Amino acid sequence: MDKATSKGRTKRIGLMGGTFDPIHHGHLVAAEEARFEFGLGKVIFIPAGIPPHKTRKDISLPAHRLEMTGRAVASNPFFTVSDLEIKREGRSYTIDTVQEMRRLFPGNDLFFITGADAVLEILTWRNVIGLLEICSFIAATRPGFKLESLNKSLSHLSHQQLSKIKTLEVPALAISSTDIRKRVQEGRPVKYLLPEKVEEYIYLNRLYK
Ligand code: ATP
Ligand code: MG
Repeated sequence: MDKATSKGRTKRIGLMGGTFDPIHHGHLVAAEEARFEFGLGKVIFIPAGIPPHKTRKDISLPAHRLEMTGRAVASNPFFTVSDLEIKREGRSYTIDTVQEMRRLFPGNDLFFITGADAVLEILTWRNVIGLLEICSFIAATRPGFKLESLNKSLSHLSHQQLSKIKTLEVPALAISSTDIRKRVQEGRPVKYLLPEKVEEYIYLNRLYK
């Protein structure tokens, strides 16, 4: 594992992209583990504007997802939220977001944190080769996903490109936003699947009903 402290090194910054509809403990555990294992100085959560890969029509308003993400990360001094994608007009592509972060943090190494399932989607992202030139990826394990199948799917990349994709074992949490939305819809409990302040916000604003 690529353990590193920020001492004597360029400060590393983690970027955690997602729809966060809603944000849950799976996201938070993965980001915290990545922060610790890769010596990240901070992790910036970036809720997606109009996610290019999502076809679901009823995605919650950006303002709701931004607010829930803010509430979820408030208690971690290493975590912050960016409204960069939400403020941008139209669809957000990861390459545009990372390029923007490059401009904002010119001297830092950027690490894009994703679930191992989502890293496979990078194969379909626009300009994946360019992306691997300006940031590294941290692919976190997720229940139901085998890391071996990741290696197979990435076999067309060069050794140099592959070295930019790092894997991370996180304590398995079989939590997904899809399941949480379904549970709220059906009146089943979501307590302990996500931060209490996010749960309160969902009920207060009658989301997912
Ligand atoms: P949905 O069910 O709506 O797709 P989700 O739970 O997958 O939601 P996203 O917002 O799509 O959440 O995910 C953002 C990022 O977090 C993705 O890279 C995803 O792979 C990762 N992620 C989500 N849940 C987990 C989890 N339980 N463990 C590790 N990574 C996760
Ligand atoms: Mg998802």
